[in-house]
Amino acid sequence: MALKIHNPEFAHPSEAEFAHILDFYGVEWDYEPTSFPTQWDGDRVTEMFTPDFYLPQLDLYIELTTLKQSLVTRKNRKLRRLRELNPDINIRLLYRRDFHRLLAKYGFGPLANSETPVIDRVLIGTSQIAIRTAELGREISKDYRHKKPVLVGVLRGVFCFMADLMRQITVPMSVDFMSISHYGNEDSAVKITKDLDMELESRHVLMVEDIVDTGMTLNYLLDYLRAKNPASLEVCTLLDKRARRLTDNTLKYVGFEIADEFVVGYGLDYMEEYRNLPFIGILKPDEGDAANRAQNKSPK
Ligand code: 5GP
Repeated sequence: MALKIHNPEFAHPSEAEFAHILDFYGVEWDYEPTSFPTQWDGDRVTEMFTPDFYLPQLDLYIELTTLKQSLVTRKNRKLRRLRELNPDINIRLLYRRDFHRLLAKYGFGPLANSETPVIDRVLIGTSQIAIRTAELGREISKDYRHKKPVLVGVLRGVFCFMADLMRQITVPMSVDFMSISHYGNEDSAVKITKDLDMELESRHVLMVEDIVDTGMTLNYLLDYLRAKNPASLEVCTLLDKRARRLTDNTLKYVGFEIADEFVVGYGLDYMEEYRNLPFIGILKPDEGDAANRAQNKSPK
């Protein structure tokens, strides 16, 4: 896909970083393309709202706000007004916290600056995972009777879930894996680093994911798999962070819908660690650690 050459003057470094992430996943964007009037005095426009980004393929506006949560009330009011005046508009506000969590998965932001991230709590326990995986296995076995599905996993986060899920599937099936590059490495765009070994033409393909967050990875992968002309293509994900979704893909099988927290364990990593935890836990910067370092940095 041809991407536009962008070189806008970004108002904030976080906007430039966000634009890089979109470029990496091949999501087209325009920076501040439209100003929407939100208030008038007679014929005169007295207030406008200019969302930071427009993503034309997704018909989605994004407003990135790196202000403290307590300072966003005014922006929220403007956003409400914008939605009242343009009920069909598709707009998402990404708060500072959302943005930091987005960065966390690429190894940047406050989590990366914390010397000792901590498991704050267990979000989904080992037996809960096992019970839900068995339910999904039963559902998939029923839906794919006589279809000999190919389960396609994207390495590496999915390996625990794939291993457990496939052992709960009682119909004949095969499995294949691929892997892709991640944002933050030297590549400027996402690419396949390990391709599939099997032919997918006319096969019933079930893509198995560990977690779907913004959906940008999944979007890229589904386009790639669709081009192989499978007889059908569906998605099964263990975790669905729906609150953060930017794309619009149907997830046929979902283990758990989770809130917007950075999770590790059961195959999911942070900088290649924590994959061996038998549960899914929430990883947070150690706040004591961050506070200590802030103190050490303060002028003497
Ligand atoms: P998306 O492209 O949907 O934003 O992100 C999907 C990928 O980001 C997942 O396959 C996973 O590798 C990573 N990811 C997203 N959220 C999390 C999370 O909370 N924890 C971990 N460990 N990885 C995540």
